[in-house]
Amino acid sequence: MSHLSRLYAVLALAVALLPAADAGEPVQPIRLQFDPAHILQAVARRMNVTLRPEIPLPTILLQSRTPLARFQDAIAVQWKFRPPVYSNAYVVARNEIYLMDDPAYYVRIKRSLDESLAHEFAHYIQVHYLNADLADPSCESDAIAVQALFATPTIAATAGSPQG
Ligand SMILES: [Zn+2]
Repeated sequence: MSHLSRLYAVLALAVALLPAADAGEPVQPIRLQFDPAHILQAVARRMNVTLRPEIPLPTILLQSRTPLARFQDAIAVQWKFRPPVYSNAYVVARNEIYLMDDPAYYVRIKRSLDESLAHEFAHYIQVHYLNADLADPSCESDAIAVQALFATPTIAATAGSPQG
């Protein structure tokens, strides 16, 4: 490969990694770095909970593949209003996690999709294992603390494994 064509290849890659601005192409959804099972395991360990097979796992629904109306119908009962836009949320009655996967959102809030999934898994564990009511403000602060596990990739990589 010539020097110039190598440069073009690098540039093409750089452009591919940027969110499409005005190209008219759909923006590629952001992806998880870790397997959801690993994230759930890590969250459970952090919350001192042992996952039990008889407790149904939540369904994960990504914004890019789920109509807004489905999210609105699901969350309206819990929030007692119908939000006009998507949000990350755990819907207790349906045992569903709704996750935004628009990369621009994650750039703006400087967070990863893994952190957001860890946060919603924390709410799932609060409800199904700790008998918590999500209306309790401590649920939100605890979930924010747990999601930090996935803010640092090196910690996140080993977070699900038993220690010692
Ligand atoms: Zn929350």
